Amino acid sequence: MRLAHLTRIAAVAAAVVLAATACGDQSSSLGSSGAAPSVAEGVSFPAGSTMDTLNKAQTLRLGTKFDQPLFGLKGLDGNPAGFDVEIAKIIAAKLGIPADKIVYTEAPSAVREEVIEQNRVDMVVATYTINDKRKERITFAGPYYVAGQDLMVKSDNTTITGPDSLRGANAKVCSVAGSTPSENIKKYIDPANLTLFDVYSKCADALRTGQVDVVTTDNVILTGLIENSGGAFKLVNKKFTEEPYGIGIKKGDVAFCEFIDQTLKEAETDGSYKAAWDSTVGKVSPEVPPLPAAGTCS
Ligand code: GLU
Repeated sequence: MRLAHLTRIAAVAAAVVLAATACGDQSSSLGSSGAAPSVAEGVSFPAGSTMDTLNKAQTLRLGTKFDQPLFGLKGLDGNPAGFDVEIAKIIAAKLGIPADKIVYTEAPSAVREEVIEQNRVDMVVATYTINDKRKERITFAGPYYVAGQDLMVKSDNTTITGPDSLRGANAKVCSVAGSTPSENIKKYIDPANLTLFDVYSKCADALRTGQVDVVTTDNVILTGLIENSGGAFKLVNKKFTEEPYGIGIKKGDVAFCEFIDQTLKEAETDGSYKAAWDSTVGKVSPEVPPLPAAGTCS
């Protein structure tokens, strides 16, 4: 079913690229933000809780990506936009904080735990896979979406058909330091063939110039890069992992984690989760995903 969903993403992505090309307009609205969710008024939270502190401060410091179309892409106004940003806006609104009071910090894959530990952000929403290693340093609310690792190649590439074809093709692969895909891919290739950058847009540039043959990360991140490639790239569409996206917060803040999980549940019921999807990833993949069951807050 997920494969069918992704095939559809790829098909719609191709159609959108064609449409954009036909208009001679390579700029896309993939970073545009949705309608702001309504901000809770007169709310009060247990004294001393993170919710109370944030509500009183009337600001939320968000760590997110700045170069990932559909999830977090910095726009001309200087602010990132995408599904991750919309999820953060939903949480901010429930805290009684308007979207324009969110302060954005770029959080590339390798520094996400660090920016939380150093209290440089209140939360990280950044295509952030929940896993045990990361849970040693931070707490995850969610998941709010489940992606899967895939491969992206140039549109005319016919030799790369999935992770098992990489070794035979002696393919040069690009990913991002500190990401789960950069670890997962190691069992499919010679380590000398793996290039790691700090952000995925640099991998896309390396694919464009032919310095690498493949970019690997989550399918939906690749879909965003494909959208912006003007037809140059395609998804191999052979998902080989599960990547549940969580919201990273300070380790042990169980009350805040439970508040976020409750907020996500309400967002699914009141339509704001769907609105967040529709205004971002939904532009290339209209089917709204079900909100995954929440994990344990610890
Ligand atoms: N979801 C994966 C991760 O958290 C890959 C995406 C990313 O690097 O942001 O590592």
